[in-house]
Amino acid sequence: MTGGVFHFRPDDRYHAFITCCEEAAYGGGHLSGIPVAVKDNISTKGIMTTCASAILWGYVPPYNAYVVDRLKSEGAAIVGKTNMDEFGMGTTTENSAFGPTLNPIDTGRVPGGSSGGSAAAVAAGMVRMALGTDTGGSIRCPAAFCGIVGLKPTYGRVSRYGLIAYANSLEQIGPMAANVSDVNLLMSIITGHDPRDSTSYDQPYHHVPDPDIHGLRVGVPEEFFGKGVDPRVASVVWDAISRMENQGAEIISCRMPSMSAALAAYYVTCTSEASSNLARFDGVRYGPGADPKKQWHEAFQERRREGFGKEVRRRILLGTFALSSGYYGKYYAKAQTARQEVRDDFRRLFREVDVLAGPTMPTIAFKLGEKTDPLSMYLSDVLTVPANLAGVPAISVPCGTSEGMPVGLQIMGRWFEDERVVDAAFAFEQGGAS
Ligand code: GLN
Repeated sequence: MTGGVFHFRPDDRYHAFITCCEEAAYGGGHLSGIPVAVKDNISTKGIMTTCASAILWGYVPPYNAYVVDRLKSEGAAIVGKTNMDEFGMGTTTENSAFGPTLNPIDTGRVPGGSSGGSAAAVAAGMVRMALGTDTGGSIRCPAAFCGIVGLKPTYGRVSRYGLIAYANSLEQIGPMAANVSDVNLLMSIITGHDPRDSTSYDQPYHHVPDPDIHGLRVGVPEEFFGKGVDPRVASVVWDAISRMENQGAEIISCRMPSMSAALAAYYVTCTSEASSNLARFDGVRYGPGADPKKQWHEAFQERRREGFGKEVRRRILLGTFALSSGYYGKYYAKAQTARQEVRDDFRRLFREVDVLAGPTMPTIAFKLGEKTDPLSMYLSDVLTVPANLAGVPAISVPCGTSEGMPVGLQIMGRWFEDERVVDAAFAFEQGGAS
């Protein structure tokens, strides 16, 4: 195949997409003719990009994100932009300004978030692969809840050029697909050095997954099975870990004390960064315009009040408070100390083990509307945020079910050892998955 038009007429009963491109062009290359969905916070030239926010409704980027250029140059057909929690802030995709995505396994439940649309599109078989973004679990959580595979790469491995920032020191774009091989393939396409992202490393990813995990040292921190983890989910994940042992891996129990501060450090850091990143949305440069007859501060205020959803407003306020003079030391600086402790814990553990394993999420997918208070929603991110705070790679691979819903096994690795994490997941998928 050397090019053409891919016709995409989805029956989007799960509301996985915000924008569908019914006629997507494809070219020649490693992804020739393959339909790929792209999360709606990744810039696509000529295709509306909203971050699932009313404040960006109608915004059409004049350029492509690095990863989108890569997809196109390998011939992929970009068939649409997927639904998400507004600006990536959430764990269920219910925070979309355009209505929630439903979980294709059980439409009474959420698909997870914030890349819920990407996960649902893959799980429902609408696309073969999708791009998500992960600031504190947004690739791995929906992968776990929808029964697919999702990888958050090492920080710096994938260019963030053209990603609309939520919390830039934490987030990475990454691949989502039904199996590890497709995640591996998509990863090889989106990596590479990009001088337009100053944190981008020059370490391309060309890898053939190896299913042999003999001698792999798998650390299991006690804290990964701590308070809040549903015992039924824990038992599915323990079974999965013992299957890795049967495949030749060495299971080593260990401790990760910084877990107790990780969630708080994450929420102080991400809200602080969000308050600064979202300052640019003022109704002048993007989306529906502010009223030009009003005083500028009134016009901005009105636009931001109407354009941002409740959770986004909450986080801007929290972040602005955390950064305000007099409180900076008490919150932001303290969070950075805790973040360093998380990094130190990983560094120490990775001297003794090759990867760490545990549940991706403490529970199965929630029912739609089940989580109403923000704190209980935040608590469900406890197992995914450490990888973002430290910047290490982490994958979620399906490992069984509880109450008929998928459970994800999370495997984290050393910085820039995304290949090893993929291998461990591949081995599990090939030989250990029940
Ligand atoms: N649920 C987390 C949050 O709300 C993670 C989101 C993400 O990774 N974008 O911040």
